[in-house]
Amino acid sequence: AEVAQFAAGGSASALSFYDAATDPHRPERLSLMGDLRDALDRDGLSLHYQPKFDLVSQRVDGAEALLRWNHPRRGWVPPDAFIGMAEDTGNINRVTRWVLASALAQAQQWIERGLPLHIAVNLSTRDLEDADLPARIGGLLSIHRVPASCLTVEVTERAVIGEPDIAVRILRQLAEQGIGIAIDDFGVGQSTFAYLRHLPVSELKIDQMFVKHLATDPNDRVIVRSIVDLGHQLGYRVTAEGVEDQGALDYLASIGCDHAQGYFISRALPAEAFAAFVAGQRGH
Ligand code: C2E
Ligand code: CA
Ligand code: CA
Ligand code: CA
Repeated sequence: AEVAQFAAGGSASALSFYDAATDPHRPERLSLMGDLRDALDRDGLSLHYQPKFDLVSQRVDGAEALLRWNHPRRGWVPPDAFIGMAEDTGNINRVTRWVLASALAQAQQWIERGLPLHIAVNLSTRDLEDADLPARIGGLLSIHRVPASCLTVEVTERAVIGEPDIAVRILRQLAEQGIGIAIDDFGVGQSTFAYLRHLPVSELKIDQMFVKHLATDPNDRVIVRSIVDLGHQLGYRVTAEGVEDQGALDYLASIGCDHAQGYFISRALPAEAFAAFVAGQRGH
């Protein structure tokens, strides 16, 4: 079991101790992963769409697709409770394929209904080790007749640092197709800025940790303003996540941040509710 634990990798380094909670071979995790495979086979997963608000036009012009799993016995299982496990057990690539296919089928419907929305999809570390990914995404874009410029993939710093050479090659191939590359959870990684120079980044997403208390915390304001300036000087768009009140939204607009996302605008919504939300704002 110890060998299996090391072989399974995941977040375990050679120096870490056995931890039942993260052991991919623990029976409870095995059964959850079996259930996840069933969910993939039987259409048990869904995507919810969190509006992305353009701070200049003051309109929602896109969405981030967020995975939702309604488990037959456990009820809603949050993505943080199974994505890491799916990475450790080799199930994440199937999950990502399902997410991409669903999100792009949805984008096609919106485009056909006259809603030319931009859509963002989260990738994980393991996806950036999958050399077939750029061709697969290219195929999905053409099947669904969605312009590459309508799609952004979100990756964390951690995902890029895992297998840097392969990850960089995959991201370049995606960018060459015209797909946007967003660095997610920006500011909380332990890395330096060095990696940014090698990546075809189009967007920074400021982690919600710095955004939540913007209305009241002067230090957070300094950090967020600096990230917005850094991003703009490097030619990137900047999105702030976790906007929970009017004060944060106003501050972000005042410093020229491009997009805002957060509960103050809307939580992630089922596809129909999201389309209604977007259609509603057009009436004003
Ligand atoms: P993330 O990519 O950073 O997504 C943002 C998370 O913050 C989402 O949680 C969203 O619902 C939540 N959020 C948005 N606005 C606010 C706010 O104003 N306040 C607070 N407190 N939270 C807010 P969610 O949907 O539970 O997803 C958690 C994480 O799971 C995501 O973090 C992402 O890392 C991962 N995830 C979700 N869907 C996918 C997916 O399809 N593929 C992969 N690989 N990972 C996913
Ligand atoms: Ca994200
Ligand atoms: Ca994030
Ligand atoms: Ca996150």
